Amino acid sequence: QFRALRAVKDDAGFRTEFQTLPLSALPGGDTLVRVTHSSLNYKDGLAVTGRPGVLRSLPMTPGIDLAGTVVQDETGRYQPGDAVVLTGWGIGERQDGGYAEYARVRSEWLVPLPPGTDAAWAMSVGTAGFTAMLAVLSLEEHGLTSGGGGEVLVTGAAGGVGSTAVALLAAAGHTVTASTGRPGEEGYLRSLGASHIIGREEVPALKRPLEKERWAGVVDSVGGETLAGAIASTRTHGAVAACGLAGGSELHTSVFPFILRGVGLLGIDSVTCPMERRRAAWTRLARDLPAARLADVTQVRPLSDVPALAQEILAGRVRGRTVVEVGA
Ligand code: NAP
Repeated sequence: QFRALRAVKDDAGFRTEFQTLPLSALPGGDTLVRVTHSSLNYKDGLAVTGRPGVLRSLPMTPGIDLAGTVVQDETGRYQPGDAVVLTGWGIGERQDGGYAEYARVRSEWLVPLPPGTDAAWAMSVGTAGFTAMLAVLSLEEHGLTSGGGGEVLVTGAAGGVGSTAVALLAAAGHTVTASTGRPGEEGYLRSLGASHIIGREEVPALKRPLEKERWAGVVDSVGGETLAGAIASTRTHGAVAACGLAGGSELHTSVFPFILRGVGLLGIDSVTCPMERRRAAWTRLARDLPAARLADVTQVRPLSDVPALAQEILAGRVRGRTVVEVGA
């Protein structure tokens, strides 16, 4: 038997509750994982509070991330005791996820923990940090270089994707400008490596489709007017990695930044990221964001706190990353 945070719906409506379940209640899959840690992402906040669009059926165990050890893998890819991390692939959305002491999944979704790391580190990275890494890799592939390449903008900088993006870009030698709606987090963002801090209201475009050229690259987790403004002020042949929608899912822009400045708009999807790229991203994360560097970004909380934390992350009040201790 194991403990799980379950999202359920009955005549009284949607709610989450802790349940004790037999292993037979787990979904189909070839690999059983003992989950020691999960994490809290914006999407988990949406799921746990019952917002439409994340949980595709109910009842369901939310949690889009998990880390722990393999108990049994029918495919033979992993041995019992192997330490693994799993982000995305629809766990915590289409099938039971990380907010439970056990998960049954497909072994092809798992990534071995990089040498020298542990489950708590992997979950302080989590989907948010992994997404930030994918965004940085995409910007680099588009030509972003640290030598004289100019400023890189990170929006929603005090959030999970934002904080890890700031730290990763700083580690790669970029000059980082962090945009935040929380001026009180300036010291925190500077400690992560941001050189400049600007207010959230400074990014949206004025009425013009082309603003003064400023950013060599952008990691955006906000969307909406912020993304439109970032595109309009990106330098010739720069690029914008669109990761999120914390400020809105609409995008009103014009073609001018694309056809007059060659600006690239790069879509980032962590859920379906192919395995080879996943492994490369986790290897680079282990190099550039070791546990000591992530400590300041991370709070560690027990699974029982997740319902309350879900409200907090949607309200934009969670700083950096939250590791969830599943056994606690
Ligand atoms: P998070 O920790 O809540 O960070 C979001 C940040 O956005 C907040 O901390 C806040 O930063 C800013 N923000 C919040 N509400 C805002 C508003 N109304 N207007 C402007 N800025 C606002 O969430 P996260 O886990 O990092 O996720 C961030 C976004 O990326 C979410 O939309 C999430 O769904 C998306 N995401 C996408 C992928 C993918 O695969 N594409 C993966 C992970 C996450 P400040 O306080 O600093 O302003």
